[in-house]
Amino acid sequence: MALDDNWFTEPDRDIAMSLRITKKLHEEQTPYQKIEIFETTGFGNLMVIDGFVMLTGRDNFIYHEMMSHPVLYSHNAPKNVVIIGGGDCGTLREVLKHDEVEKATQVDIDERVTRLSEQYFPELCDANDDPRAELLFDDGIQYIKDAEPGSIDVIIVDSTDPVGPAEGLFSADFYRDCVKALGSDGLLVQQSESPLLHTDSILRPMHDSMRMTGFIDALTMHFPQPTYPSGWWTCTIASRDAPVSFLREEAAEEIPFVTHYYNAAIHRAAGATPEFFRRKLFA
Ligand code: SAM
Repeated sequence: MALDDNWFTEPDRDIAMSLRITKKLHEEQTPYQKIEIFETTGFGNLMVIDGFVMLTGRDNFIYHEMMSHPVLYSHNAPKNVVIIGGGDCGTLREVLKHDEVEKATQVDIDERVTRLSEQYFPELCDANDDPRAELLFDDGIQYIKDAEPGSIDVIIVDSTDPVGPAEGLFSADFYRDCVKALGSDGLLVQQSESPLLHTDSILRPMHDSMRMTGFIDALTMHFPQPTYPSGWWTCTIASRDAPVSFLREEAAEEIPFVTHYYNAAIHRAAGATPEFFRRKLFA
């Protein structure tokens, strides 16, 4: 069945993801990318950048929680957290739920993403006034290059796909700078696309580059993300000094704030490696 103009469609070579829309709320070309906001019939507002779904009001909680809580419960004392990208502020909101975080700096290259999120996804921005939060609008690659060595506990790379301004965020040079910027036991987590569609093109090279540049371990966590291509998504945690492990498992059993997806059992399950993935990654 062909879809009519009432649908937004994101094709990914052999598969497409569609959302039924009622109207386009906003469109603009910034110096970095084209941002569109749609109203959908069942998924709330939808943000699209350069034709790729960034988030919907209905299912972004899975992605934002999985980009934040597994890595923060895998670090012993995550005090200084830097988010690269993440301009919609959903990851920042989750990070700031952790009382042990003393400072969370979000570095997105495009201020317009944040301003539009404030307007169309205000619920994601309700921690932006937290005194621990700092919002910078700059290139994340340069920010990490210039960071004081050993100064960051956790780097969260919540970026667009590896094209355009985000391409360098998937490079060996960037990982090398991250290793330098992280303190002892430092962790990096990066959104790492679909294991079904992007293992050969993105996940395998990402694991290889992380190991080549000084990370001693990397673990890919799996989770559903219904509005991203294939509906199956990942983030990859890389560790500077010790194998990636669920260090504060006991604390995660008693999460002192509300989550909608993440819990300790989800954390353990998300780190299990499917057979095809293990063979492709480590063969
Ligand atoms: N959840 C989303 C996904 O995986 O599709 C990512 C959302 S977030 C909106 C992605 C952000 O990465 C965008 O706001 C974009 O401006 C930012 N970005 C891309 N390249 C960047 C760079 N080099 N430095 C900082 N931010 C960057």
